[in-house]
Amino acid sequence: MRLTILVSVLILGLVAAELPLAEKCNEELCKLPNCRCSSTNIPGGFRPRDTPQFITLTFDDAVNVRNMATYREILYNRKNANGCPIGTTFYVSHEYSNYHLINELYNQGFEIALHSITHRTPTEFWAAASYKDLKEEIADQKELIAHFANIPQESIRGVRIPFLQLAGNTSYQVMADHGLEYDSSWPTSEILNPGLWPYTLDYASIQDCPVPPCPTASIPKPWVQPMLSFRDTMGFPCAMADSCFFTPVVTDVDAWYKLFIRNFERQYFGNRAPFGFYLHEWYLESQPGVKAAYIKFLDTVTRLSDVFLVNHGEVLDWVKNPVPLNEYMKKPCRSFTPTNCAMRSCHAFEPNNRKNYWFDICTNCPRLYPWVGNPLGA
Ligand SMILES: [Zn+2]
Repeated sequence: MRLTILVSVLILGLVAAELPLAEKCNEELCKLPNCRCSSTNIPGGFRPRDTPQFITLTFDDAVNVRNMATYREILYNRKNANGCPIGTTFYVSHEYSNYHLINELYNQGFEIALHSITHRTPTEFWAAASYKDLKEEIADQKELIAHFANIPQESIRGVRIPFLQLAGNTSYQVMADHGLEYDSSWPTSEILNPGLWPYTLDYASIQDCPVPPCPTASIPKPWVQPMLSFRDTMGFPCAMADSCFFTPVVTDVDAWYKLFIRNFERQYFGNRAPFGFYLHEWYLESQPGVKAAYIKFLDTVTRLSDVFLVNHGEVLDWVKNPVPLNEYMKKPCRSFTPTNCAMRSCHAFEPNNRKNYWFDICTNCPRLYPWVGNPLGA
């Protein structure tokens, strides 16, 4: 009898872990603004030349005094050809982050997104992460950043899991349940030309899975903003622009510039799928030639009237309600409500890893260093 119960519990456990596979997408049932089949079709059915070419610059990891100097130098006061300030999305990890500076980035109109509280190693942790793990690392981080940087919770919409290591369905279930609108952790090295546009997971995805496990179930609400791989000088895919294997000599600014332009042109002269330029700041700061090429690339693309460097969330706004290029060009620049930061420098202990931290925030100092399970450091 007891054995029967045990066996039933085990079987139930297995069934609960394996959600049914999502069905093949049906364009008739899956419609904007809240559902989109995974495809290379341009939203709204526009021709490429009537489609705005979006570029999403992103930077990952902790924000600190050192990398802030680069952000100020290369991103501030830069405008798109339509006169609107450019966007950039910062996928921020909590440990060692400076919240006074995160507040400054927000007040420049940039987007703050989630990249976990601990950014812990090994990557296997993220592959096998439970619902609770990801709720505490990612969903709770929204509350943490909003509180200590004094920015609105609603402004935090996106997620990038450390090492781009999804945990299959679980990652997206946590996003769906905690009001996180999109994920930018899922690379594609196959659907580049024409490129894959953002889509939802109501139905089965056609996307390749270079870093398994990827989601397979039907999980309505969160969007996938697929990471279209770069190609290096030998044509091999790289999920992030700073993870390419075959690259020009670091001092050859022109060769780097051409590499960036070639990758951009794959989308620009193709189906205008959003072009993501995903970097870590150290890659630019440690290689002045690459940084010069990056700046030259920004100078070039911000002169093109059909190209828009925007926050990652703004791409989604357009995909949900697509309008043709001529209409998009007339739209007002993005607006946001500035928030202040009455900066405090704090010192606190973190009892799990037994470390002391010094950190700047925009609220009163917490009792403990904020961490998983205690995001407000209470
Ligand atoms: Zn990272």
